[in-house]
Amino acid sequence: MKCFRRLTGFTLLFTVLLGSGCQLGAPAAAQAKPATAEAVNERLVFLLVPIQNPRKQVREDVEKSLREFYTADIRWLDNVAIPQSAYYEPRRRYRSEKLLEWLQAECAQDSKTTKVVGATEKDISTTAHGVHDYGIMGLAYMGGTTCVVSSYRSKRRVGPVAVHEAGHTLGLEHCPNKGCLMRDGEGTGADIVNHKGFCSKCRSRISTWLR
Ligand SMILES: [Zn+2]
Ligand SMILES: [Zn+2]
Repeated sequence: MKCFRRLTGFTLLFTVLLGSGCQLGAPAAAQAKPATAEAVNERLVFLLVPIQNPRKQVREDVEKSLREFYTADIRWLDNVAIPQSAYYEPRRRYRSEKLLEWLQAECAQDSKTTKVVGATEKDISTTAHGVHDYGIMGLAYMGGTTCVVSSYRSKRRVGPVAVHEAGHTLGLEHCPNKGCLMRDGEGTGADIVNHKGFCSKCRSRISTWLR
């Protein structure tokens, strides 16, 4: 495996946020705390994982957007083949929760402030909006260490979606404030791409990690 193996067992908050479109899944999400206070001395690190050779433009958009908002060390891992365990044959696309499981098992580190961000051009999906297999742009473990984004639905949106999904891993839920990066993408992701940064409320919750 090209990724780092996880060192120890890490209890995941299996509350999955569905993005573009990411929506709050289970009630446990509300209990997730932002990472700010508990790990204030730890540096935020993003390990970016190219999945199935995303083009340079996609990789650059993800990295550039993360750098624009977060004071993090950013490092690319080697490209990985998309795991066939995630393939959903009826729609010929990939289940994002399976990708997260895979990234968590193969790439996650034993640090709550090291986040794994998978980036792919492949079509990804999950169960959302009452639809068993719903196409999405990103998915994250709420307050966890792993998220994944796809440029399949919009090349232009993959950067902001990465910032949004990373925000979920830092404990941010969806935000009702207009223009906030943490708005629910509601299917099109329009609110995320037309963002005006994090609103003051979201900003204050993760200010430790922001520029
Ligand atoms: Zn979301
Ligand atoms: Zn907000």
